[in-house]
Amino acid sequence: MSGNARTGERRGLMFVLSSPSGAGKSTLSRMLVENTRGLRMSISATTRPMRPGEVEGEHYYFIDKPRFDAMVLAGEFLEHAPVFDNHYGTPRAPVERALAAGEDVLFDIDWQGTQQLREKARADVVSVFILPPSASDLERRLHTRAQDSDAVIRGRMDRATHELSHWAEYDYVVINNDLGRAFGEIETILRAERLKRERQTGLSTFVRDLQTQLKK
Ligand code: 5GP
Repeated sequence: MSGNARTGERRGLMFVLSSPSGAGKSTLSRMLVENTRGLRMSISATTRPMRPGEVEGEHYYFIDKPRFDAMVLAGEFLEHAPVFDNHYGTPRAPVERALAAGEDVLFDIDWQGTQQLREKARADVVSVFILPPSASDLERRLHTRAQDSDAVIRGRMDRATHELSHWAEYDYVVINNDLGRAFGEIETILRAERLKRERQTGLSTFVRDLQTQLKK
């Protein structure tokens, strides 16, 4: 579970994936959570209506605007932002609990939310921007989301262009032209970040023990 199991304690990190809508981020997030121990997905709250196939508490917590505003006022969000015509926010308590327990948390949030997390907890945030291989690929993927109307798709294309303009604010960039390869790259980033010296809080005790034993 931790970066290096032998050294014990490790502070959890916040692993953020952002991309223009349609670049494969949801699939990659799901693959990562299913295949990685010690990583849990942050479930956001949103005022957007539920789409067919979505499950309350699994994809999102679907709440109305008054409830959303009340949560903002009560400081219950770690970050929150308007995206398209709806509001999205990350409930604070589950994230803080997971991090304190040494678990990593995966966030599928936009650039606004990523900026807010970075401002609050720069040392704990690792951010990855996922790029589509081409504009035509992105367009094709947006059209295959059958649930959405043409106007919604057009809106998403405009929004995608805007989201893209924030790529350089991220720590890592992965081009998703092959799902398996992109997944491997994201997994590699997480593995390396887990091994960062400053995240392995049990390391100094481990090394001290090594030194003591060597002196005997
Ligand atoms: P969708 O409505 O298609 O599920 O998500 C639309 C966009 O909202 C995606 O780019 C997604 O990353 C972003 N998003 C989802 N949850 C949150 C959140 O809690 N905070 C922020 N800032 N963005 C979010």
